[in-house]
Amino acid sequence: MVKARPLIVSDCDGVLLHFIAPFIDYLRDIHGYSLKMESFALTGNVRRPDGSAVEGHEFPPLLDGFFTTHMPQQTPIPGAADALQHLARSCDVVVLTNIADHHAERRTAELQRMGMPYPVIGNQGGKGPPLKKLLDEFQPSEAIFIDDLPPNHTSVKTHVPHVHRLHMVAEHEVRHIIPQSPDAHARHDDWPAMLSHIETILKG
Ligand SMILES: [Mg+2]
Repeated sequence: MVKARPLIVSDCDGVLLHFIAPFIDYLRDIHGYSLKMESFALTGNVRRPDGSAVEGHEFPPLLDGFFTTHMPQQTPIPGAADALQHLARSCDVVVLTNIADHHAERRTAELQRMGMPYPVIGNQGGKGPPLKKLLDEFQPSEAIFIDDLPPNHTSVKTHVPHVHRLHMVAEHEVRHIIPQSPDAHARHDDWPAMLSHIETILKG
């Protein structure tokens, strides 16, 4: 019987790949909009040239357009590929990303191109239910979840409370406006620190 391995489940945008900077470029170049991250939300912060705010219902098509044409502009977060490569020697690694299914294939290819050849699961909404599904499938010895958005940690805590939850906000543009999730066990905003934390857990 194959011995169970630990499972690392990582978010993509804001953890493995930059999102804010290329999204700002896309909004400006394709739509003439500006984005200033003054609060922890896209809604209200994206503005037309006349200064009016783009409304919530206008975001799904904007995000879809970004992922359709500008995903290749997303650059890797420093240290992410090395850390995951190191962990993948003894762990299974899966990327759980809130992205429509039809974009998941391109994201898989993009991550692979940047040295992160891991399965990509597209999701919508809370990450607790899809993570529970992954645990059922992998039956890991232990599981570690990494994400930049506090509501995702809350969802995971609700559905699979035994998973070790690590908060990472890798993009400096939003680091100051995203508070540490009260539902995560720890926060590390760079990969070298995150890797040593994970290694400590796996040794424990
Ligand atoms: Mg994210």
